[in-house]
Amino acid sequence: MATIHRGHIFHIAGSPLVLQASDALADLPDGALAIDDDGRIIWCGEWPDRPADLEGATVVDHGDAFILPGFIDTHMHFPQVYCGDSYGGGQLLEWLDNCIFPSESLLQDPEFAAQASAEWCDRMITAGTTTGLVFGSQFPAAQDLLFQTARDRGLRIVAGRTVQTVGPDSASALITSEDKAIELVREEIEKWHPLDDEARRDALQFVAVVPRFSLSVTTRTLEALGEVYDEYRDRGLYFTSHLNENARPGTGEIDSTKAMYGVDSYLDTYDGKFLPGSKQGGKSMLGPRSVMAHSVHCQDAELARMAETGTSIAHCPVSQLFLGSGTMPWKRTVAAGVNIAIGSDWSAGDEWFIPQVLNACFKVHISEAGDAGLSLHPAELLFTGTLAGARALDMDDRIGNFDVGKEADFVVLEPHRWEMYGRTLENVVKPADPITARDANLFAVLMLAREPALTETYVRGRRLTTSAA
Ligand SMILES: [Zn+2]
Repeated sequence: MATIHRGHIFHIAGSPLVLQASDALADLPDGALAIDDDGRIIWCGEWPDRPADLEGATVVDHGDAFILPGFIDTHMHFPQVYCGDSYGGGQLLEWLDNCIFPSESLLQDPEFAAQASAEWCDRMITAGTTTGLVFGSQFPAAQDLLFQTARDRGLRIVAGRTVQTVGPDSASALITSEDKAIELVREEIEKWHPLDDEARRDALQFVAVVPRFSLSVTTRTLEALGEVYDEYRDRGLYFTSHLNENARPGTGEIDSTKAMYGVDSYLDTYDGKFLPGSKQGGKSMLGPRSVMAHSVHCQDAELARMAETGTSIAHCPVSQLFLGSGTMPWKRTVAAGVNIAIGSDWSAGDEWFIPQVLNACFKVHISEAGDAGLSLHPAELLFTGTLAGARALDMDDRIGNFDVGKEADFVVLEPHRWEMYGRTLENVVKPADPITARDANLFAVLMLAREPALTETYVRGRRLTTSAA
């Protein structure tokens, strides 16, 4: 028995690159998304055109609401669930020391971790984030709770314990020995990653290898993590970390990393070339299931290497504003051929709701200096928040848009649930040209949306509920 969700549908059809997103934009004002009992999309088009064999389908009429693909957040930190707008009185490294390391340490208390994992999944669901790439807790019991809660709720997550084998005193509770770190990473993979092909086809939860960043580990840790990654690479294991975020000269993240390892580029440390002079010391962790957060201050060679290996970027404009990290150069990064997905970077980013992260994305790139600045097309914004995220996670064959055969991850935005949104969309002057009118409408639907307007979140056709519901 099929179910049809009727509403105003927008999605980026097919498998375009970002510069082709406007050509691939599907705008179905009286749209119908038909789903089978397994949550797979069997048809998507205009309501009057629906095929005769859908006649008996159950219809869920969403009225004047918008139906968009579920948002994909490719960079977020579970143990920072209660750290939004933490004041560190400095920059990235001070913020970590004063706010983040102490907060992340609280998850060693299993009761607190249970509350945190429930809160985490609630926040993803209310924000319409159907898939998240998540830096996890250092405490195995907290990670078990995160995976189990995500499984119970039906959320898609890719997560892995945040590995830290060196660091300041403020991080002492988060640091393990190198041997222990590897043992715990292996245990997490064996417990929560779908290891055979069939399990992987059905799974919603996956594991990633996640060093916090190169400064939180050593050459020996990177070598051992590379071995683990390589061992499970063919079974869909993920890799993610931070890259080129904070460029404060001398003591900032990038200079400190290059000084600590003696490497030519930050990316080399994740590429197996972590020995002095960027000499090969182990296996590379780059590839089509690898995601580098931020990548604000990349060298040309780093962008080229990411493009060559199919490594994606999690672009986190809200977080970059919060920490004063600068802006990932959009045109240059796109020109290098690297896939750019979006990330909230909760809690350095103080916004869960991906349309608001895309809103910041638009603003920071129109504000880039000189020829670097551009006005992103609304379809490019939608692409970045949906299909690009699916591609970054090597899941674009199953999610990211409403192509037939994919799994139905989608959200419902009701314009009148947030007064200003509904009234503005209704009363705004509409351009005469139909394509311009379509683009202007999508622009406002995304940029003006606020979380209260997001009323329903579905993964694989199933409506997700929060713990309060
Ligand atoms: Zn981060």
